[in-house]
Amino acid sequence: MICMNLNYMKVKESYLFADIRKRIDAWLADHSGQRILRLGIGDVTQPLTPSVVKAMHEAVEDQARAETFHGYMPECGDPQLRSLIAQWYQKRNIPVEADEVFVSSGASDELGDILHLFDRQMPAMIPEPAYPAYADANVMDGREIIFPDTDMENGFQPLPPEHDVQALIYLCSPDNPTGAVCTRECLEKWIAYAVRTDSVILFDAAYESFVFEENIPRSIYEIPGAKECAIEISSLSKTAGFTGTRCGYTVIPMELKRDGMLLNAMWVRNRTTRTNGVSYILQKAAMAVFSEQGQKEVAELHEVYRANAKAFMKALDEAGLYYAGGKNSPYIWMKCPEGKGSWETFDILLKQAQIAATPGAGFGESGEGWIRFSMFASKEDIVEAGRRIIALRNEKYF
Ligand code: PLP
Repeated sequence: MICMNLNYMKVKESYLFADIRKRIDAWLADHSGQRILRLGIGDVTQPLTPSVVKAMHEAVEDQARAETFHGYMPECGDPQLRSLIAQWYQKRNIPVEADEVFVSSGASDELGDILHLFDRQMPAMIPEPAYPAYADANVMDGREIIFPDTDMENGFQPLPPEHDVQALIYLCSPDNPTGAVCTRECLEKWIAYAVRTDSVILFDAAYESFVFEENIPRSIYEIPGAKECAIEISSLSKTAGFTGTRCGYTVIPMELKRDGMLLNAMWVRNRTTRTNGVSYILQKAAMAVFSEQGQKEVAELHEVYRANAKAFMKALDEAGLYYAGGKNSPYIWMKCPEGKGSWETFDILLKQAQIAATPGAGFGESGEGWIRFSMFASKEDIVEAGRRIIALRNEKYF
């Protein structure tokens, strides 16, 4: 009798970041004293903003007094936070209501947990290169995966395949790793495809706050028809520096029905069984992000990373290197020079310039020949990395 989920045997070991660490450690073992400029991992470096820290302190004090103490929180989220998030959408004329918003512990949790709503016969469609957790969660779930390509020709925008398949479609905009953003036209095509095929789109908006161009959608619900076919999964991790604090939100519209079932109602049932809600302290912190002052502060936070991206793109331009992303994204996706491979380029950057980046091959086969730089580093490191890349180019290492 088989008693284990054998799909775990099919999940590829996640060697990417372990391999990167191993290569850096090996290099440092022979070159002690060198400082590596770490532009590899997509984790934030700026601290939480003052409003968030104040709200968290106050919430801790609340928990210390019987009169203000909170036990279990509502499973789908504090109604005040759900309402604040809905208002934040509505201020931008995006029609989201409080009961369509679910507070979560972050996007990763939701991207995996949400699969529970769908039959395993429904394949996942994951445009590559992609955030590796999408495929891994689906392999663990025993689901077939279709990988439509994105490429340089279309600016790494994912486009629906020629053939019609009913699927669970993953879209990420701004994208990790390519930094590409889905335009309105791109989303319109996917929405038409999803409606035609009875598919459901999982729109990963974890990097929405990095979109600064007015005509680029930050939410899929800016496009008519999206509420009938899309779930939006988002997070405060990159928006407000919550990677180590943990809070996010998922929107499941009331219009979204399949097989006569309301997905919103199914998710309420799921959450009330499988979670006991996000902690009071973290939800208070999240409320501070959505306050007027909180929004000003996170805008300043983004300015730091945006300035980094600008400085780095300027250096790549000066070096004559081709890249995507950076404009509406904290990631810069650089084409490896002179037909070099991702890992070859990684090694040159590490050994000749002490820069750590992430090889594109780690995001799927179509990422081979590309390398990702994260702009979540200090300004000094970004400027220095740009200077070293220009020097590499002048010295013909690239
Ligand atoms: N989605 C994408 C595309 C990401 O890059 C990340 C984290 O790097 C996540 C989701 C996960 O975010 P969270 O910290 O909210 O789990």
